[in-house]
Amino acid sequence: MTDGVDPRPDFVIAGATVVDGTGAPGRTADVTVRGGRVVSVGRCADEVCERIEADGLMLAPGFVDPHTHYDAQLFWDPAASPSNLHGVTSVVGGNCSFALAPLHASDAEFTRRMMGRVEGMPLGALEAGVPWSWTTFGEYLDALEGRIAVNAGFFAGQSALRRFVLGPGANVTAADATTLPQLEAALAEALAAGALGLSVDGSTAHQDADGAPIPAKGADADELLALAAVVGRFPGTALAGIFDGGSTGWSEAELDLLPRLSATADRILNWNLLVVDAAFPERIDRQLALSDRARSVGGRIVALCMPTLVPMTMSFANYCALFLIPGWRETMALEPAERSAALRDPAVRRRLEAAANHEDAGMFRVLGDFAGYRIGETFAPGNAGCAGRTVGEIAAERGADPFDTLIDVVLADDLRTVLWPPPAGDDDAHWRLRERVWAHPDVLLAGSDAGAHLDRMCGAPYPTQFLADCLRGRRSMPVEQAVHHLSDRPARMFGLRDRGRIAEGVHADLVLFDPTTVGSESARLVHDLPGGAVRMTAGAVGVHRVFVNGVETVRDGRALDARPGRVLRSGRDTETVTAR
Ligand SMILES: [Zn+2]
Repeated sequence: MTDGVDPRPDFVIAGATVVDGTGAPGRTADVTVRGGRVVSVGRCADEVCERIEADGLMLAPGFVDPHTHYDAQLFWDPAASPSNLHGVTSVVGGNCSFALAPLHASDAEFTRRMMGRVEGMPLGALEAGVPWSWTTFGEYLDALEGRIAVNAGFFAGQSALRRFVLGPGANVTAADATTLPQLEAALAEALAAGALGLSVDGSTAHQDADGAPIPAKGADADELLALAAVVGRFPGTALAGIFDGGSTGWSEAELDLLPRLSATADRILNWNLLVVDAAFPERIDRQLALSDRARSVGGRIVALCMPTLVPMTMSFANYCALFLIPGWRETMALEPAERSAALRDPAVRRRLEAAANHEDAGMFRVLGDFAGYRIGETFAPGNAGCAGRTVGEIAAERGADPFDTLIDVVLADDLRTVLWPPPAGDDDAHWRLRERVWAHPDVLLAGSDAGAHLDRMCGAPYPTQFLADCLRGRRSMPVEQAVHHLSDRPARMFGLRDRGRIAEGVHADLVLFDPTTVGSESARLVHDLPGGAVRMTAGAVGVHRVFVNGVETVRDGRALDARPGRVLRSGRDTETVTAR
């Protein structure tokens, strides 16, 4: 290590194929690091403290995950696992309007319960694992500074700001002449402290723990435009959001407002999540039309689209995507006993099955292949032997309808059955359509939601899964383009200074992997959250080393103790990326 007087570089990674993030062809080179920065890319003949032989391996810039919810997890898991194992060196949180600051102490309980509901973070982990010691956004960032193993930046969240300023009525109250300046001031304070921008939530899906709309819901268009203008006053900022039209098609109101938000701020607005459904290919054009509209008014809107299929579990007992299927909401919102009673009604069953497969279900239509669901854990003696089998197999054995079979299994378990929906859209038509979408200049391959929905999905491994697919699977794009999407593209979207590429002078965020084996292990459930709650996680395969700011954080698939991560603050760590 550098001790301040040792003139030698800290280490050289020698002989790897360097895929530098720009999309340029990989080339064999030595990458030399000193004091947290890359000091040379080429031949290294100097004497160094450590020489890492990397013949046959590939060296890429550390990956940047632009859509995570690690805001809470970083306190009990400074490594942001499992993203770290998959080569992610920078994460962005505070998405979907859900930041943990600013916060009145009296609102901590509300915030914990809301995060538990909307982002699937167990209440016990949020209570035991997070200090809740801050009021301002700056104090929140300070609470993480120096304690994390990845670089992490955070949006100011519209829900957090509105609750802070407008109180419990925020979810039904638009800001007025008195409170709008307060809201603007709260946002400005967060941005001045280093928030990466503003995240908003215009979807009706998200509800707080009591089933009421989340605080973001009270906002009107004028308020949003006013806040966008505040964002535009601060350097190195951006916009992010989740909107109803993202899954079901943009309304005229959204097509009008969202481009204006971006244009008003003169900042890129990224939204999640563009889900490709080959049954409705024309929907893709409608979804991307938002980006075209934005460009025509001087804005820029980028859609996040995952490059991999995300394994997820579901159940009829606990709030999950099943609760959000259009046409299912009234039934699933019932108390468990009444929900069970409704599910016994054949008419209700037929209605639910039809609704899930209707075009109006939007992106939730992918959940409609009930015969393909695999039964995970079961609880009732009568369900013995079902675990591990598909609903279709069990239905055939029983000579029953698949959806009826699924509901019968679930009812026998008092709704608690753990279900694994089939990977949606895993066929040639879907992959061809996705590849077409990925080529659009306003589509970014991301949207893991890592850190959220802990017990039922695991999007964090997408970098290694996508690399495996590009190197040895469908080969959707050259590895250089895949790395570009995973590192440089998101880094440039946020204007991250000296990150996302391998070049002389940049921060040494690096991932060294074996292109013949890189990939992800299967997702599995582990009981390792504070309070003992369960989460899904997956290790990586073929990732030899990960470095954050020149310090090794992962070796041979295992996290080390170092905490070299930096809180990424707007202005200091980001440069301004305008929309036009
Ligand atoms: Zn999200």
